[in-house]
Amino acid sequence: MSRTESQLAHNYEQVSKRIEAACARSGRAASSVSLVIVTKYAEIDWVRTLVKLGATRLGENRPQQLLARIPEIPSPVEWHLIGHLQTNKVRRILPAVALIHSVDSLRLLREIERIGGELNLRPRILLEVNLTGEASKHGFTADELESQWDEVSACRQVQLEGLMTMAAFSDDPEESRPVFASLRELRDRLATRSPALALTELSMGMTGDFEVAIEEGATLVRIGSALFEGLSDGADGDQPDGP
Ligand SMILES: *Cc1c(COP(=O)(O)O)cnc(C)c1O
Repeated sequence: MSRTESQLAHNYEQVSKRIEAACARSGRAASSVSLVIVTKYAEIDWVRTLVKLGATRLGENRPQQLLARIPEIPSPVEWHLIGHLQTNKVRRILPAVALIHSVDSLRLLREIERIGGELNLRPRILLEVNLTGEASKHGFTADELESQWDEVSACRQVQLEGLMTMAAFSDDPEESRPVFASLRELRDRLATRSPALALTELSMGMTGDFEVAIEEGATLVRIGSALFEGLSDGADGDQPDGP
Protein backbone atom coordinates (compact mmCIF):
# COMPACT_ATOMS: atom_id res chain seq x y z
CA MET A 1 0.00 0.00 0.00
CA SER A 2 1.22 3.50 -0.76
CA ARG A 3 1.52 6.06 1.99
CA THR A 4 -1.59 7.78 0.63
CA GLU A 5 -3.56 4.56 0.68
CA SER A 6 -2.60 3.69 4.23
CA GLN A 7 -3.40 7.23 5.40
CA LEU A 8 -6.83 7.00 3.75
CA ALA A 9 -7.44 3.56 5.27
CA HIS A 10 -6.48 4.96 8.67
CA ASN A 11 -8.75 7.99 8.32
CA TYR A 12 -11.65 5.90 7.08
CA GLU A 13 -11.30 3.51 9.98
CA GLN A 14 -11.09 6.35 12.52
CA VAL A 15 -14.18 8.07 11.16
CA SER A 16 -16.11 4.79 11.06
CA LYS A 17 -15.13 4.06 14.67
CA ARG A 18 -16.15 7.53 15.79
CA ILE A 19 -19.55 7.08 14.12
CA GLU A 20 -20.00 3.71 15.83
CA ALA A 21 -18.99 5.14 19.21
CA ALA A 22 -21.43 8.05 18.87
CA CYS A 23 -24.19 5.57 17.99
CA ALA A 24 -23.33 3.40 20.98
CA ARG A 25 -23.32 6.43 23.32
CA SER A 26 -26.79 7.43 22.17
CA GLY A 27 -28.24 3.93 22.21
CA ARG A 28 -28.57 3.75 18.44
CA ALA A 29 -27.70 0.92 16.07
CA ALA A 30 -24.59 1.62 14.02
CA SER A 31 -26.65 0.80 10.93
CA SER A 32 -28.98 3.74 11.64
CA VAL A 33 -26.35 6.25 10.46
CA SER A 34 -24.99 6.39 6.92
CA LEU A 35 -21.72 8.04 6.01
CA VAL A 36 -21.72 10.23 2.92
CA ILE A 37 -18.13 10.87 1.93
CA VAL A 38 -17.82 14.44 0.68
CA THR A 39 -15.28 14.33 -2.11
CA LYS A 40 -15.17 17.98 -3.12
CA TYR A 41 -11.60 18.39 -1.79
CA ALA A 42 -10.38 14.99 -2.91
CA GLU A 43 -8.26 13.89 -5.81
CA ILE A 44 -10.00 11.25 -7.86
CA ASP A 45 -7.43 8.61 -6.88
CA TRP A 46 -8.23 9.19 -3.22
CA VAL A 47 -11.90 8.64 -3.98
CA ARG A 48 -11.09 5.42 -5.85
CA THR A 49 -9.10 4.21 -2.85
CA LEU A 50 -11.98 4.90 -0.47
CA VAL A 51 -14.34 3.02 -2.76
CA LYS A 52 -11.92 0.06 -2.73
CA LEU A 53 -11.97 0.27 1.07
CA GLY A 54 -15.74 -0.08 1.03
CA ALA A 55 -17.19 3.42 0.66
CA THR A 56 -20.57 3.34 -1.06
CA ARG A 57 -21.98 6.88 -0.81
CA LEU A 58 -20.19 9.87 -2.28
CA GLY A 59 -21.31 13.48 -2.03
CA GLU A 60 -20.45 16.55 -4.08
CA ASN A 61 -21.72 20.05 -3.53
CA ARG A 62 -21.26 21.20 -7.14
CA PRO A 63 -23.53 19.59 -9.74
CA GLN A 64 -20.91 20.11 -12.45
CA GLN A 65 -18.17 18.32 -10.55
CA LEU A 66 -20.53 15.54 -9.52
CA LEU A 67 -21.45 14.85 -13.15
CA ALA A 68 -17.81 14.98 -14.22
CA ARG A 69 -16.78 12.46 -11.58
CA ILE A 70 -19.39 9.78 -12.21
CA PRO A 71 -17.56 8.21 -15.15
CA GLU A 72 -14.28 8.35 -13.21
CA ILE A 73 -15.57 5.93 -10.55
CA PRO A 74 -16.47 2.72 -12.32
CA SER A 75 -17.73 0.81 -9.26
CA PRO A 76 -21.39 1.05 -8.36
CA VAL A 77 -21.63 3.86 -5.79
CA GLU A 78 -24.43 6.23 -4.84
CA TRP A 79 -23.86 9.89 -5.66
CA HIS A 80 -25.46 12.44 -3.38
CA LEU A 81 -25.86 16.10 -4.27
CA ILE A 82 -25.33 18.18 -1.13
CA GLY A 83 -25.04 21.71 -2.55
CA HIS A 84 -27.16 24.25 -4.38
CA LEU A 85 -28.85 23.07 -7.57
CA GLN A 86 -29.83 25.60 -10.21
CA THR A 87 -33.12 24.84 -11.92
CA ASN A 88 -31.41 24.65 -15.32
CA LYS A 89 -29.32 21.67 -14.15
CA VAL A 90 -32.20 19.60 -12.75
CA ARG A 91 -32.69 17.58 -15.94
CA ARG A 92 -29.09 16.38 -15.99
CA ILE A 93 -28.81 15.77 -12.26
CA LEU A 94 -31.96 13.75 -11.61
CA PRO A 95 -30.93 10.57 -13.44
CA ALA A 96 -27.43 10.75 -11.94
CA VAL A 97 -28.03 10.96 -8.20
CA ALA A 98 -29.42 8.71 -5.48
CA LEU A 99 -30.42 11.55 -3.16
CA ILE A 100 -30.51 15.34 -3.31
CA HIS A 101 -29.92 16.72 0.21
CA SER A 102 -30.14 20.35 -0.79
CA VAL A 103 -33.60 21.23 -2.12
CA ASP A 104 -33.61 24.79 -0.84
CA SER A 105 -36.75 26.44 -2.24
CA LEU A 106 -40.30 25.70 -3.32
CA ARG A 107 -39.37 26.82 -6.82
CA LEU A 108 -36.59 24.23 -7.08
CA LEU A 109 -38.82 21.56 -5.54
CA ARG A 110 -41.50 22.21 -8.15
CA GLU A 111 -38.98 22.02 -10.96
CA ILE A 112 -37.72 18.68 -9.65
CA GLU A 113 -41.34 17.53 -9.39
CA ARG A 114 -42.08 18.58 -12.98
CA ILE A 115 -38.95 17.19 -14.58
CA GLY A 116 -39.13 14.02 -12.48
CA GLY A 117 -42.57 13.48 -14.01
CA GLU A 118 -41.28 14.07 -17.55
CA LEU A 119 -38.38 11.65 -17.04
CA ASN A 120 -40.59 9.15 -15.25
CA LEU A 121 -38.38 9.28 -12.16
CA ARG A 122 -39.30 9.57 -8.50
CA PRO A 123 -36.38 11.62 -7.19
CA ARG A 124 -35.42 11.07 -3.55
CA ILE A 125 -34.95 14.43 -1.87
CA LEU A 126 -34.34 16.22 1.42
CA LEU A 127 -35.27 19.82 2.10
CA GLU A 128 -32.44 22.07 3.22
CA VAL A 129 -33.30 24.25 6.19
CA ASN A 130 -31.34 27.33 7.18
CA LEU A 131 -31.67 27.42 10.94
CA THR A 132 -28.79 29.79 11.67
CA GLY A 133 -30.11 32.80 9.77
CA GLU A 134 -26.79 33.22 7.95
CA ALA A 135 -27.40 35.01 4.67
CA SER A 136 -24.60 33.01 3.03
CA LYS A 137 -26.58 29.81 3.45
CA HIS A 138 -29.27 28.44 1.19
CA GLY A 139 -32.41 26.83 2.47
CA PHE A 140 -35.93 27.31 3.77
CA THR A 141 -36.22 29.06 7.09
CA ALA A 142 -38.17 27.00 9.60
CA ASP A 143 -41.07 29.47 9.36
CA GLU A 144 -41.11 29.32 5.57
CA LEU A 145 -41.13 25.56 5.56
CA GLU A 146 -44.00 25.40 8.02
CA SER A 147 -46.04 28.02 6.16
CA GLN A 148 -45.32 26.46 2.74
CA TRP A 149 -45.79 22.90 3.97
CA ASP A 150 -49.12 22.31 2.21
CA GLU A 151 -47.55 23.17 -1.17
CA VAL A 152 -44.38 21.22 -0.34
CA SER A 153 -46.16 18.09 0.81
CA ALA A 154 -48.46 18.17 -2.22
CA CYS A 155 -45.46 17.29 -4.42
CA ARG A 156 -45.91 13.57 -4.86
CA GLN A 157 -43.65 12.81 -7.79
CA VAL A 158 -40.68 13.34 -5.49
CA GLN A 159 -39.97 11.06 -2.55
CA LEU A 160 -39.57 13.53 0.28
CA GLU A 161 -37.54 11.68 2.88
CA GLY A 162 -36.48 14.29 5.40
CA LEU A 163 -34.47 17.41 6.16
CA MET A 164 -30.90 18.64 5.94
CA THR A 165 -29.07 21.45 7.70
CA MET A 166 -25.66 22.91 8.39
CA ALA A 167 -24.73 24.48 11.70
CA ALA A 168 -22.66 27.65 11.83
CA PHE A 169 -18.91 27.13 11.67
CA SER A 170 -17.41 26.86 15.15
CA ASP A 171 -14.51 25.17 16.93
CA ASP A 172 -16.92 23.92 19.56
CA PRO A 173 -19.23 21.13 18.34
CA GLU A 174 -21.57 21.77 21.28
CA GLU A 175 -22.60 25.00 19.55
CA SER A 176 -24.15 22.88 16.80
CA ARG A 177 -26.28 20.84 19.18
CA PRO A 178 -29.26 23.21 19.48
CA VAL A 179 -29.33 23.61 15.69
CA PHE A 180 -29.44 19.85 15.17
CA ALA A 181 -32.08 19.45 17.88
CA SER A 182 -34.22 22.11 16.15
CA LEU A 183 -33.98 20.27 12.85
CA ARG A 184 -35.19 17.09 14.52
CA GLU A 185 -38.05 18.94 16.25
CA LEU A 186 -39.06 20.62 13.00
CA ARG A 187 -39.08 17.22 11.28
CA ASP A 188 -41.23 15.82 14.09
CA ARG A 189 -43.77 18.65 13.71
CA LEU A 190 -43.96 18.20 9.93
CA ALA A 191 -44.23 14.42 10.28
CA THR A 192 -47.22 14.90 12.58
CA ARG A 193 -48.88 17.07 9.93
CA SER A 194 -48.18 14.53 7.16
CA PRO A 195 -48.27 11.02 8.59
CA ALA A 196 -48.32 9.59 5.06
CA LEU A 197 -44.83 10.91 4.37
CA ALA A 198 -41.96 8.94 5.85
CA LEU A 199 -39.71 11.79 6.93
CA THR A 200 -37.09 9.44 8.28
CA GLU A 201 -33.87 11.14 7.22
CA LEU A 202 -31.94 13.87 9.01
CA SER A 203 -28.81 14.89 7.10
CA MET A 204 -26.71 16.81 9.59
CA GLY A 205 -23.15 16.79 10.89
CA MET A 206 -19.82 17.36 9.15
CA THR A 207 -16.20 16.86 10.23
CA GLY A 208 -16.44 19.34 13.10
CA ASP A 209 -19.73 18.24 14.60
CA PHE A 210 -20.88 14.83 13.33
CA GLU A 211 -20.77 13.12 16.72
CA VAL A 212 -23.10 15.69 18.25
CA ALA A 213 -25.33 15.35 15.17
CA ILE A 214 -25.58 11.59 15.68
CA GLU A 215 -26.48 12.14 19.33
CA GLU A 216 -29.26 14.44 18.12
CA GLY A 217 -30.64 11.94 15.61
CA ALA A 218 -28.70 12.32 12.34
CA THR A 219 -29.25 9.46 9.90
CA LEU A 220 -26.84 10.82 7.28
CA VAL A 221 -23.55 12.49 8.14
CA ARG A 222 -21.62 14.32 5.41
CA ILE A 223 -17.90 14.10 6.06
CA GLY A 224 -15.02 15.40 3.98
CA SER A 225 -11.98 16.87 5.76
CA ALA A 226 -11.64 14.17 8.42
CA LEU A 227 -11.17 11.58 5.67
CA PHE A 228 -8.54 13.54 3.79
CA GLU A 229 -6.38 14.63 6.71
CA GLY A 230 -2.68 14.11 6.31
CA LEU A 231 -2.84 13.98 2.52
CA SER A 232 -1.59 16.67 0.22
CA ASP A 233 -1.81 17.13 -3.52
CA GLY A 234 1.24 15.96 -5.35
CA ALA A 235 3.52 15.77 -2.28
CA ASP A 236 2.75 12.12 -1.90
CA GLY A 237 6.08 10.37 -1.41
CA ASP A 238 4.61 7.03 -2.48
CA GLN A 239 6.89 4.05 -2.10
CA PRO A 240 6.67 1.17 -4.54
CA ASP A 241 4.69 -1.74 -3.14
CA GLY A 242 6.84 -4.10 -1.08
CA PRO A 243 7.32 -7.79 -1.89
C1 LIG B 1 -18.07 20.44 2.27
C2 LIG B 1 -19.35 20.03 2.84
C3 LIG B 1 -19.41 19.05 3.85
C4 LIG B 1 -18.19 18.38 4.44
O1 LIG B 1 -17.47 19.26 5.22
P1 LIG B 1 -16.24 18.79 6.14
O2 LIG B 1 -16.22 19.79 7.22
O3 LIG B 1 -15.04 18.82 5.26
O4 LIG B 1 -16.52 17.42 6.64
C5 LIG B 1 -20.67 18.69 4.32
N1 LIG B 1 -21.80 19.25 3.84
C6 LIG B 1 -21.78 20.19 2.87
C7 LIG B 1 -23.06 20.77 2.40
C8 LIG B 1 -20.56 20.62 2.34
O5 LIG B 1 -20.55 21.55 1.38
